[in-house]
Amino acid sequence: LGPSMNRYSIVELHGDGIARELSQAVHTVADALPFEIEFIPVDLSDESREAKGDAIYDEAEAAMRRYGTSLKYPTATTKESPNRVLRERCNFAVIHRPVATIPGIQTHYNERIHLDIVRIATGGTYEDAGRRINRDTAVSIRAIERRPSVLASRFAFRLAQLRDSNVIATSKYTIQKATDGLFQEAARGVARDYPATEFREELFDALLAGIIMRPERYGVIVCPNEYGDFLSDMAYGLIGSIGLGDSASYSFDSQGQVDVAMFDPAGGTAPDIAGQNKANPTAALLAMANMLRHIGEHDSSKALRGALFGAIEAGEKTADIGGSLNLSEFTQVIVDRTKSAL
Ligand code: ATP
Ligand code: MG
Repeated sequence: LGPSMNRYSIVELHGDGIARELSQAVHTVADALPFEIEFIPVDLSDESREAKGDAIYDEAEAAMRRYGTSLKYPTATTKESPNRVLRERCNFAVIHRPVATIPGIQTHYNERIHLDIVRIATGGTYEDAGRRINRDTAVSIRAIERRPSVLASRFAFRLAQLRDSNVIATSKYTIQKATDGLFQEAARGVARDYPATEFREELFDALLAGIIMRPERYGVIVCPNEYGDFLSDMAYGLIGSIGLGDSASYSFDSQGQVDVAMFDPAGGTAPDIAGQNKANPTAALLAMANMLRHIGEHDSSKALRGALFGAIEAGEKTADIGGSLNLSEFTQVIVDRTKSAL
């Protein structure tokens, strides 16, 4: 260990099903990187949650706040949704879903698709389940707040600077004039601080058609909660797989700096193949690559992402996407490719 070597402490939120195997893949890759990562484990598996109740979330929250950066593996939603509890406890304000064509996985497009979907993590239509006001009518409240709108927009512009792309703010602002109007106003305000970045506003319905017809016109997209939810799944569909995506959640301090960041693979716990050394770790390793970008290790982040895309393109892949490698063989391929790129 050289004296100038960086060292990071990353909280690892363990889960259920294939979570342990995904974590082993992450550790194997971490061992191959030119700096040290110390993993701080928190067991969010179903058994642990059953045994410890709220105390396990106290432990998770304390670790996430203390160390700032965490990786989360899939958890079974039994009594409660751990994702929902963590979102509330950590006050996540922004969710980022990178969606990019994976070479070698067939899409309907010749061009490479590379979208970064940045959404407000709260509000929209998801906060209020609504109520019946009489037998035939139900209402709900839809809330849009300025602070997360500004935070999401700033995050979007910083990301666009990093990858040299445009920013599109989208919602239904011609109909939801007050709520979505407030969101657009916040995004427009942030855009004035980034005059070098191309910015445009699009109605959400037009944007959906636009992405399907000409995806190359879209880079970073920022939007309220529910639109981002719909759009992420559609975008994963365009690149051919929901299971290969990753997600990042961020909360911010009063200065607008990232406070707690959590990176996780989008897929589920895959109980049917758990413990069989078959799981595809691509989404977990993409989450790890995004985490490496966040902590400032850009070279390793790019090398890992490139290793994943390069291996899959070369046909070195797991069975779920038509290959013949098991989890540990695929992980070894990624380690070798990452090392040779660094
Ligand atoms: P959960 O409730 O956690 O979503 P689930 O039973 O719905 O669990 P999923 O994880 O959603 O299962 O998986 C759906 C299908 O996709 C399963 O057949 C599973 O084996 C497969 N699958 C999911 N993730 C992976 C993975 N990482 N590698 C290989 N196959 C996977
Ligand atoms: Mg599922």
